[in-house]
Amino acid sequence: MPMARQAAARFVAGETQAQALQVVEQLNQRGILATLDHLGESTTRPGDAEQATAEILSLLDAIQSAGVQANVSIKLSQIGLVVDPALCEANLWKILTRARELGNFVRIDMEDSSLTQRTLDLYFKALTGGFAQHVGIVLQAYLYRTEADLTRVLTAGGRVRLCKGAYKEPPSRAFSRKSDVNLNFDQLALQMLRYTLRHGAPQVSSDGRTPPIPALATHDPQRIRFVRQAVEELYLSRRAVEFQMLYGIRRDLQESLTAEGFPVRVYVPYGTHWYPYFMRRLGERPANLWFFLKNFFQH
Ligand SMILES: Cc1cc2nc3c(=O)[nH]c(=O)nc-3n(C[C@H](O)[C@H](O)[C@H](O)COP(=O)(O)OP(=O)(O)OC[C@H]3O[C@@H](n4cnc5c(N)ncnc54)[C@H](O)[C@@H]3O)c2cc1C
Repeated sequence: MPMARQAAARFVAGETQAQALQVVEQLNQRGILATLDHLGESTTRPGDAEQATAEILSLLDAIQSAGVQANVSIKLSQIGLVVDPALCEANLWKILTRARELGNFVRIDMEDSSLTQRTLDLYFKALTGGFAQHVGIVLQAYLYRTEADLTRVLTAGGRVRLCKGAYKEPPSRAFSRKSDVNLNFDQLALQMLRYTLRHGAPQVSSDGRTPPIPALATHDPQRIRFVRQAVEELYLSRRAVEFQMLYGIRRDLQESLTAEGFPVRVYVPYGTHWYPYFMRRLGERPANLWFFLKNFFQH
């Protein structure tokens, strides 16, 4: 396991809040925004869900004290969605209340499709329950249902991070061909940009915490090219969209987009529960696995 932990360090900022905040400071110095994720998911005990909630609350406070340009990403399964939905709702309310007090923003990550509906239900409750400026959702381009979900979220004035999707899904729910996922990503991104054009949606906030409605989370140069071209053709301000990438992936792109004037936010995970996150990053790119195995056998 120590080998795996060493390899995971490429994608994970450290085990402690202090290490993660240090990474955020370095990103901010390069003009890059951050979203911090205290790693953890699929919690099976109420006590663990409460502990995760306490860590997220303390993270919001720590961001405030450090004065860094960062918001927070959470997973509902980490704060009790599977073990006790009522507890999860209570925990989410605590987190969003603190974010609202501090003028910060919480993005609800999207997990596997067994949780999509429950995640959206709670998100909509929060959106209409007084937290509209402080909560956002993630939608995944690989799911067939996302086109309808996106329309519903945009109509309700919600803020969306669009990504391709990171979980293994059956063909009954998700496109299995990469080309179909890519095409859907482009179409959904365009829908988000057109919505921004029609409604003059807010730009990234001056403290760098609240993102604009179209947050496009991808490292795929072709998707990024498509979005950049659409922004130009629609005469949108570059500040009205945000590109998001993962810590440890395509730093060159993060920097070139920042230099061009696009807000770029890096997802910075930290904590001791790094294993499932690391396995998803390995699975996305066979080259990562080869790199890991090569190092493993060299030691
Ligand atoms: C900010 C952010 C938040 C996310 N939140 C969620 C979420 O809530 N739910 C969810 O299901 N998914 C989430 N994802 C993951 C996402 O769904 C994809 O699995 C992941 O981003 C890879 O897809 P891609 O768009 O980069 O395209 P890909 O076609 O997979 O990759 C394009 C290029 O990016 C680089 N790249 C991509 N992945 C890796 C990797 N692991 N290691 C090294 N290089 C890589 C390679 O150069 C690759 O050629 C998030 C991604 C980002 C960036």
